[in-house]
Amino acid sequence: MNGRTGVVLSVGNEQYAVPADLRRWLRLRDGTCRFPGCTRPAARSDIDHTKAWEHGGPTDHDNLAHLCRMHHRLKHHTLWAVEQEPGGVLVWTSPAGQTTAPTRRPTSARPPPRHPNHRKPRPPSGRATRPKTRPSRSLAGSAI
Ligand SMILES: [Zn+2]
Repeated sequence: MNGRTGVVLSVGNEQYAVPADLRRWLRLRDGTCRFPGCTRPAARSDIDHTKAWEHGGPTDHDNLAHLCRMHHRLKHHTLWAVEQEPGGVLVWTSPAGQTTAPTRRPTSARPPPRHPNHRKPRPPSGRATRPKTRPSRSLAGSAI
């Protein structure tokens, strides 16, 4: 669960299907297909389990990434390999064994700050507005 957005970011190994909330979150995070240099929009790409679900890869934001159909096939049917590091960072290894620099979408999945110019004014500090509680004279006098 992402505390900021309330989106469940992992449903673990129980469920293969990616919940709608998590799909939306991933679309924001990825923006496009995650193959280096590919600009196909995430909305028109598949969500791939980086480590195959049937091999124990969880349905988890750290194990999911958008791949367009072409690069999805490339991943599954060629010697290209990909690993995902925490934070949605993908490291691709070509059939020749060359590793690409970790790719990360520049866009953050965090929601933008709301109304940055309309911050709540801080409550005044140092001025206590507690009602003064002083024992009444009659009670103080009667204790003698
Ligand atoms: Zn692609």
